[in-house]
Amino acid sequence: MITKEKNIALDVQKVRKDFPILSRKVNGKPLIYFDSGATAQKPKQVIDAITKYYSEQNANIHRGVHTLSQEVTMAYENARETIQKHLNAKYSHEIIFTRGTTESINLVASSFGKKFINACDEIIISEMEHHSNILPWQQLCEEKNAVLKVVPINEKGELLLDDLKKLLSSKTKLVAVTHVSNTLGTTNPVKEIIQVVHSFPSPFRDGAPIPVLIDGAQSIPHMNVDVQELDADFYCFSGHKVYGPTGVGILYGKEEWLKKLPNYQVGGGTIKTVSFLKTEYADLPLRFEAGTPHIAGGIGLAVAIDYINAIGLPAIFAYEHELTGYATEKLSAIEGLKIIGTAKNKASVLSFVLDGIHPYDAGVILDQLGIAVRTGHHCTQPIMEKFGIAGTIRASLAFYNTKEEIDELVKGINKVNQMLK
Ligand code: PMP
Repeated sequence: MITKEKNIALDVQKVRKDFPILSRKVNGKPLIYFDSGATAQKPKQVIDAITKYYSEQNANIHRGVHTLSQEVTMAYENARETIQKHLNAKYSHEIIFTRGTTESINLVASSFGKKFINACDEIIISEMEHHSNILPWQQLCEEKNAVLKVVPINEKGELLLDDLKKLLSSKTKLVAVTHVSNTLGTTNPVKEIIQVVHSFPSPFRDGAPIPVLIDGAQSIPHMNVDVQELDADFYCFSGHKVYGPTGVGILYGKEEWLKKLPNYQVGGGTIKTVSFLKTEYADLPLRFEAGTPHIAGGIGLAVAIDYINAIGLPAIFAYEHELTGYATEKLSAIEGLKIIGTAKNKASVLSFVLDGIHPYDAGVILDQLGIAVRTGHHCTQPIMEKFGIAGTIRASLAFYNTKEEIDELVKGINKVNQMLK
C-alpha cells in the first residue's frame, strides 16, 4: 500500500514491490531498468485494473443499454475526469483520448492545419524536439507551402528564448515545444514561453493569441502540470510513459480552440445523426474520438494517475532529483564519459557518450549485466547533428530506481571501457 500523504519522503523499497517486473532477471542478473523514458514499468494496480476490465467488465462504451456497457462507460468517463483533475483542466470535454503523444500532435497538426494554415504562414518548433513533434509540422508545412522555423538550443541543451522572440512574426500561427527533452533532460520554461507567445499580436481574425502546443510526454511522469496555470492551448502526453498502458494518450485542448478545430478522423462515436444527405457531429470530446477506443487503456491510465498521486508528485520529483544529482556526479567521474545535456533545469534523463566507443556496443554489454539503457538517436536526430554525434547512451530514471542501481551502472560502464578500449 502507498501512503496517501503527499510531500513525505518516498520509500523506494516499498514502491518497488508494486512493480512485478522489477523482480525478474535478465541474462541471469537482476533487472536494472533505466529506460523509463522510452516506456515506464507498470505497477500491479494498473495491471490488475486491465485484467479486471477484460475478465469482468468487457463491453463497448457509449452505445449500450446493458449493464456491462453502462458500467464501463462510467469507468471510462470517470477516467477522463481523473485526467481532467490531474491536469487541472477547466472541463472534462477538454480531455481527448488518443493513441498517445504522437497521435495527439498529429490530430492538432492535421485539424488546425486544415483550417488555419495557409501558404507562407509560419510554425515554430525547437531544435530539441522529438521527431513526433517535428514531422507532423514539417509535413503540414510541405502540404500548405508554409514555413517551419526552429528555435536553436545552446551547448548545454537549453532553448534560446531570445531567439524564439526574434522568430515570432505576423505570420506565426502556432508554436510547438517540448516540456522536457527526452534526450537532453532539459526542462523548458514553458510558462514563460507561453507568455511570450501569447503576448505577441494575434494573427487571427477573432483576436485569439497564437496557440502553443506543449509536448508533455516526458514531463507528466515527473512533475505537477497545471494546464490553466501554464495557459497552454494544447498539452499532449502518452499513457505508457506515466506507468499506464501503451496505445492510449491524451490531448488536452482549451475549449475555445477545440471548438474551432475541424474534425480529425470521423466514424462511429463522432456523430449525433447520420443520413446520406447530412451528418450532424457530436459535441466535444466525442467528435474527436472516432471508433472504439482503447477502453482498458483509458481506465488503466486513470489508475496510473491515481497511483502517482497517491505517492505524491512532490515526493517523486524530490526523489528523482536527488537520484539524478547522484548519477550525474558518479557518471561525470568516469574517464572518457561526456554528458550530453547539462541544462540548469533537468529532469531525470542522463545522456552520455564514451570516448572511442559506439553507444550500441556499450548498450549490448550493459544488457549482458541486466542493465537496460537506450542507445542511439532517441528520435531526435537534429540534436545529434547539433552535438556532432551519431548517438548517445541514455539512462532515464524513475522513482523505482535506486542509488545502488546507479552504482551498478557505473561498474558496468567501467567494464565496457575495459573491454572496448
Ligand atoms: N515526445 C517526446 C518528448 C517523447 O519522448 C516521445 C516518446 N519517446 C514522444 C513524443 C512520442 O511518444 P509516443 O511514442 O508515446 O507517441
